[in-house]
Amino acid sequence: MNHTLVGIVICTLLLTNVSAVLGTLEKKGTNNEKPTPFVFEKFFEQEDTTYVILDTHQKNEAPCGHLVGPNLAPNPSFEEGDTMPTGWTYDPNSTGIYHWDSAFAHSGMKSIGVTNITNETFYGFHWTSDFIPVDYVTNSYMLSGWFKFIGTPTHYQSAFLFKQEYDENYRLLSGGGYLYEYTAEWKKSYNDTSHMNDPEVKYVKLELGQEHWGEQEPDSSVEVRFDDIYFGIWNTVPDTPTIAGTTHGKIRTLYTFTFTTTDPNQDNVTYQINWGDNTYQTTGSYRSGEEAKITHIWGIKGTYNIKARAIDGHGAQSDWATLSVTLPCSNNIPMDSFWAKLFERFPHAFPLLRHLLGY
Ligand code: CA
Repeated sequence: MNHTLVGIVICTLLLTNVSAVLGTLEKKGTNNEKPTPFVFEKFFEQEDTTYVILDTHQKNEAPCGHLVGPNLAPNPSFEEGDTMPTGWTYDPNSTGIYHWDSAFAHSGMKSIGVTNITNETFYGFHWTSDFIPVDYVTNSYMLSGWFKFIGTPTHYQSAFLFKQEYDENYRLLSGGGYLYEYTAEWKKSYNDTSHMNDPEVKYVKLELGQEHWGEQEPDSSVEVRFDDIYFGIWNTVPDTPTIAGTTHGKIRTLYTFTFTTTDPNQDNVTYQINWGDNTYQTTGSYRSGEEAKITHIWGIKGTYNIKARAIDGHGAQSDWATLSVTLPCSNNIPMDSFWAKLFERFPHAFPLLRHLLGY
């Protein structure tokens, strides 16, 4: 209950900012003064807020041919439950009217809805899912779902699909989501989290509801319906790459190292390489599982830690892999020092030995 309350308070702050942005959008507005569909994301621990105009076409498209994980949303088509849809609740203290019936199902027999929004409703009404465990460091998640409006068309009431992020102690960390304009037909929303990798986030709650904005008196009879929600992994970071190649060698000699990884989604990857000598390199694109053969040459003797990580086409980064390379080929430091001194003293002697030792 406390968590719900905190969520509502924070989201109230969130929507205040959204209203401000909408004001800007309206000023720039088109000739017919129809508000532009938009998306926003807000992270409470950051000062900067990113608002993105959402292209009308983009929001109905999922990534083509991309492998996504199983649906983690509880009871996603709202078919199960006794007096309430299993896995979902709402705030009983709000003035919102919540529906769960078979009147407007997108698929199956049932869907959920919310109506009775008024000018006094600072933050809209929403259904809330149970906590869903997540791993934001390894995975990007997609939240999508079908929604439609019932009632008189309005430009000042939005459907929203939010996700609120919580830490391991179920403390609210951040939140955000998408607002969608009126549609009388079922439409599919699409919202990914590929830009988020906060390791503190351990749980997510989904929120589906209706919001009112602007000065106009809202139409309290307008209802927003939701059905067939999907929340699941749509991208995973590539596996930590392997680095194969010599571990002992000579300076001023070209060596080839082989970098390999697989991506769980079969995405192409590039490799970022730190050669340990203050030189850095980003490779071209390789298929998942394909070997990247990259050469390097060191000019100064020493032990170098090659570090490499793989990055998929969505920007998801693997952990770093390392390979230690010692040049020249000797782990015996006192002997190494002995040879160096000897060669210094007799600079023109022992050319073959000098070559073999990499001096
Ligand atoms: Ca991937």
